[in-house]
Amino acid sequence: MRRAITFILLFMILFSACGAQGEDFLLGVEPEPSEITPAYRSEEEPAQDDTGSYWCTPMNLEDEKAIWKMLTAPITVADIDMNKQTVIYSEPDENSEGIGMVTGQSQGLRVLETLDNGWTKVQTYSTSFHDSKVLNFNAFVTGYILTKKLKTVNVNQNYGIIIDKLTQRLYLFKDGHLETSLAVSTGKYNPDAKKQQPYNETRSGEYLIIYTKTGSLNDEESGMVCSYALKFNAADYIHEVPHRKNADGTKNFRGFEEILGNRASHGCIRVQAKKNTAGYNMSVLANLIKKRKDKNCIKLVIWEDYQGRQVKIPEDDTPLYYNPKGGSLYHSVADCASVKKKFLPLNAFTYGELEEADYSKLKPCPYCMPSPRKEALEEINRIHQESSPGEVMPVYEEKKAKKKK
Ligand SMILES: [Zn+2]
Repeated sequence: MRRAITFILLFMILFSACGAQGEDFLLGVEPEPSEITPAYRSEEEPAQDDTGSYWCTPMNLEDEKAIWKMLTAPITVADIDMNKQTVIYSEPDENSEGIGMVTGQSQGLRVLETLDNGWTKVQTYSTSFHDSKVLNFNAFVTGYILTKKLKTVNVNQNYGIIIDKLTQRLYLFKDGHLETSLAVSTGKYNPDAKKQQPYNETRSGEYLIIYTKTGSLNDEESGMVCSYALKFNAADYIHEVPHRKNADGTKNFRGFEEILGNRASHGCIRVQAKKNTAGYNMSVLANLIKKRKDKNCIKLVIWEDYQGRQVKIPEDDTPLYYNPKGGSLYHSVADCASVKKKFLPLNAFTYGELEEADYSKLKPCPYCMPSPRKEALEEINRIHQESSPGEVMPVYEEKKAKKKK
C-alpha cells in the first residue's frame, strides 16, 4: 500500500479468538532447516557478542529454543518519529553518502560498534520506499548512524511472528512454541517485467508491531479493501488478504485469495482470511496482537529468501483428503471445517498420488492449506538454488552512476 491508498481507521470490533483448538496444526510449507542467518554474508564482527539476535539466528524453524530466544530478545531501534525514516551513512559523517534508510521506532538495527565520536556502526536491510531519500531497496547495508538516535527496547514475551519470503508463510510463536502457520503474500517486485517495481519488494528485517489499532486500507480506484491492517514499518502493513465488496456487502476475495502463498502485494503482508484448522486467521491474529497482556510490542521478523535456502517436500505417504462426491479441493485434514458435515469424514489418499488422474485437478483448500503440489515446491527450490529472488537490482547504484554523468 502506498500513498494513493488512504488509510481509514475503522476501529472494528474484532471477533474473539475461537475455533477448534488442539488439532495438530499444519505448516503447509516449511523451510528446510538451514544455517543461513539474516546477516550471514556480513564479514563484520560485532564488538559485542550478539548470538541470539535476529541477525545471527539461523533460519531454522525446528530449533524452537533458538527461535524463541531471537523473537523475545530486545531490539535496537532509531528513536525518531515512528512515521519517519533516517539515513544510514557510508561514513561516520552526515556529509558522507547515504546508503540506506531506517524507519523510526519499529525497525531493528544490528549494532556492530559504538565509536567514541558519537557514531555507531550498524547493519540492517534498507527500508527504502519509492519516495525515500536513499533508494536502496531491501539491500542489506553496513553503515553509520548517530549514537544519540539509538535506543534499545524490550519486546513482548508471549508472542513472536516470523514471515518467511521463501515459503510465503507466517509462523506464529506463542510461549516458546510454534503455535500455527498462515499463508501470506509478500511484495512482488517484478524483476522480469518491463516495468519493474523495486519498491514493492517487502523489506526484510526485524520489526516491532507498534501500531496496534486495526483499520482498513481502501483503494478507491480499484475497490480493493484490506481489513485488519496493522502497520509495522512506516508504509508496510500486515493485513487480511484484500477483498472487493459483493453487491450484498459481503467480502469477495476472488483474485487475491487464490494467489496466497505467492508474492503478490505492493510490499504489505497479506494474510489468509479463512480460519485454519487451529482456528487462526488474520482477524484472530489482529485481535491477539491488540489484546496482548504483555504490553511490550510483538516482534515481527522477515526472513529473506536467500540463495541456498530450500523448502521441504512432503513424504509421498503424507495423508491428504478429498470429497469423492464432487469436491474440487484437496485437504490436509479428514474433517476440514470448510466441508459440509454430510461429506465428512473425507476420503484419504496420499501426497504421492496427487498427480494421478483422480486427483490431478484438485486445488489446495484455502482453509486447511495443505502443501502445494510437488512440482510447485520443486520450482521454488530450483529458483533458490540459483538466485535470491528478494534481492532487488541495485537501483541506487544506477542512479548514482547517472548523477555522475
Ligand atoms: Zn480443507
